[in-house]
Amino acid sequence: MKIKIASKKNIEEAINDVFKKQHQIISLKNLHEVVNSYLKKKLCKVSTSRLKKTIIEMKNIEIKIKKRRIKGKQFSKCPVCGNDLKKIFGIDVFNRKKHIGFRCNHCGFKSGLDYTIPREYIFLKKDLD
Ligand SMILES: [Zn+2]
Repeated sequence: MKIKIASKKNIEEAINDVFKKQHQIISLKNLHEVVNSYLKKKLCKVSTSRLKKTIIEMKNIEIKIKKRRIKGKQFSKCPVCGNDLKKIFGIDVFNRKKHIGFRCNHCGFKSGLDYTIPREYIFLKKDLD
């Protein structure tokens, strides 16, 4: 038997099947294992990075990210999805606009000025009704 690369539809279906049985999954590694066990029945599989990209775009799953700060490093791209980051501005006590952090419009990742990397992901099923 040959294991194929899963289609986007395969991956989304497997994710939805997983979240029919449980409401939350902690860590991308665990999610990857469970999703692949579903995909195995359809003789296909998915890589961790592609699984992450797919689930970020799914509106019925919320992703919470536990972060770790690293001092002295500069942001270039979003550490979650690899898209460009936008600067977030706040107003200081003198009513001046001040650069306070970064945000990713694609996946919703937010960070202060210090470089932050995802330490652990928590995937939650959203109640859409
Ligand atoms: Zn992002």
